[in-house]
Amino acid sequence: MHHTLVIYAGGTIGMAPGPNGLAPNAELESNLRHALAAHEQMADFDFISMSPLIDSSDATPSDWQRLADTIKANSDYKAYIILHGTDTMAFAAAALSFMFTGSPKTIIFTGSQVPLLLPENDAVDNFMGALRSRDGGYQGVSLYFGDQLLEANRCHKASSQDFHAFVNNNGKGTKPATAFVYDGQITPEQHGSVGLIYFYPGISAASVQQALSSKDLKLVLLLSFGAGNIPAADSALVAALAEAKGRDICLFNISQCRHGRVQQDNYATGSVLSRAGVRHASDINLEAAFAKAHVLIAQGLQGPALADAMCANLAGEIGGNSQE
Ligand code: ASP
Repeated sequence: MHHTLVIYAGGTIGMAPGPNGLAPNAELESNLRHALAAHEQMADFDFISMSPLIDSSDATPSDWQRLADTIKANSDYKAYIILHGTDTMAFAAAALSFMFTGSPKTIIFTGSQVPLLLPENDAVDNFMGALRSRDGGYQGVSLYFGDQLLEANRCHKASSQDFHAFVNNNGKGTKPATAFVYDGQITPEQHGSVGLIYFYPGISAASVQQALSSKDLKLVLLLSFGAGNIPAADSALVAALAEAKGRDICLFNISQCRHGRVQQDNYATGSVLSRAGVRHASDINLEAAFAKAHVLIAQGLQGPALADAMCANLAGEIGGNSQE
């Protein structure tokens, strides 16, 4: 069995300045090997590039599937380091955590805020940190960034500049009780099946209705205030949610707060969601919930079965009680 495969998906780490700003560049492997010349024992890895290399802001759920397929097509390795853009790295890492639950492989995402080609970058430190974490024997999917090894489905990008760009949301997740085995395939047709509504003061019922109107939707994440509250005094808005629920769209409550959990029945402005059949999963974060929904839909789930699976702890993405 080979040791490590580095999969270069794109992102700032390998970018070079161009006429319209930073864009992916194909020269990363030789530049990385050169930067690691003084650490010969670490530089023992194979390297492949995804095609095309992308800025991760262009990534879609199908790209997560392509990464998973690439790992499966190169199953001869013990460890994989995925070089990825930071913008959507937490989504991709979370997606792979659901696709490889319980895997004995080491899969570590990393990238950088400043390209390897530019001075005073964080690319070499992050790459070497990922290699060291690999040597630490950590199994499963994780994200290494700015001196920290983070759980793939419990973190998010919190800074657009700081070298400590990622933070853990709510501490460690709970170990899953049941083994989830992914054998689905995310396709582009599925991309419109997961939606998101971000609540804000003064949001209109019409805009909520509009956001729920697409025929492709199977699940919508409701980004609520605080402990899971929405503007419940607007009965037309609440009716729009109930109407979508009636069309078998699964509605799932996530707090806009990055710390703490949803307690939907604490306030009257939240319990209205329980009465409308909206579900939640305690402290799961946006990135993990979004990726999980895509993985479960690719697995063929919809309606109540999808809602139940969203509430179950599949890969350590939930830390507390899922429903109370
Ligand atoms: N826009 C870049 C990307 O996500 C940002 C980065 O990699 O840091 O690909």
